Amino acid sequence: MNLARLPRRGYVDAPTPIEPLFHLSELLGGRVNFWMKRDDLLPGCAGGNKTRKLDYSFADAIAGGADTIVTCGAVQSNHCRLTLAWAVKEKMDCHLVLEERVKGSYKPDGSGNNFLFHLMGVKSITVVPGGSAMAQEMQKVADRLVDEGRTPYIIPGGASNSIGATGYVACAQETVQQLYEKKLVIDHIVVPSGSAGTHAGMVVGMEGTSANIPISGINVSRRRELQEKIVHELVAATAERVGVARPIAAEKVRCFDEYVGEGYSLPTESMIEAVKIMASTEAILMDPVYSGKAMAGMIDLARTGYFDGCANVLFLHTGGSPALYAYTPTFMS
Ligand SMILES: *Cc1c(COP(=O)(O)O)cnc(C)c1O
Repeated sequence: MNLARLPRRGYVDAPTPIEPLFHLSELLGGRVNFWMKRDDLLPGCAGGNKTRKLDYSFADAIAGGADTIVTCGAVQSNHCRLTLAWAVKEKMDCHLVLEERVKGSYKPDGSGNNFLFHLMGVKSITVVPGGSAMAQEMQKVADRLVDEGRTPYIIPGGASNSIGATGYVACAQETVQQLYEKKLVIDHIVVPSGSAGTHAGMVVGMEGTSANIPISGINVSRRRELQEKIVHELVAATAERVGVARPIAAEKVRCFDEYVGEGYSLPTESMIEAVKIMASTEAILMDPVYSGKAMAGMIDLARTGYFDGCANVLFLHTGGSPALYAYTPTFMS
């Protein structure tokens, strides 16, 4: 594995911090030390995990001569916010297709990421019903742009193809190096598992560096079996792209679906508790859709003994806090 060979723009110019969560560790009984990798502090408007992936996606787009980006996400998509942000930086146009996964959830004048779409000058927003074929919907927008003389490049939802997932292979490599410098032995890593690029990239990176740190993914929408299958397929494609020759066993992909609740983006009691705990003990903002549910998962797994025998557990904070401002009533009531 030699990631320097793969084209990227260089959006990530320094490692994100790895910080101890002293207060959370104490609150959870003090037997395990919890740590956090602060990818919420990545560059790009308001930070978050998509920057690492888009570093590679935009390199591919620009190499192909694109002048316009088309991508998709949910109505409060962090991925759409960050894709737009990097398009702005690259002086490219950006068009968004938003899937209204929860009926009635699209608010044209909504706050959070939706507000930022407008502030950063999105070129168009197309809202489609939940369950739409997103690849086809994006292709329709791209076809229209071609007719207008543009050269569009489509980035899939979450930038979760083998190109984007390479960003998280790089994150795993960066993490392993930081742990070496800190003389810190991490026994387990917890990541949110959504469109799968983050989870898959981390698994490939841990394999490629032979660091052997187990990873648990906390689902935000799908059932366990389906998510594990999707992550593992992306693991295989990404491993091939980055040059990890040996096959990666399906058992290396572990998911938990107990913290999804009624579905994607729908608040749960445990998410609300986790967001409040993190804000009031560590002054760290989580988000209601991804990192909040993943943190709820880590807290429950800690309380139920899943990490017994581990000295140090690392949580990957993937960002998303702008979405909090679209959910204020959920936390104020
Ligand atoms: C997209 C996203 C995730 C999930 O990452 P995937 O690579 O899509 O699995 C987690 N947290 C936040 C804040 C996100 O925006």
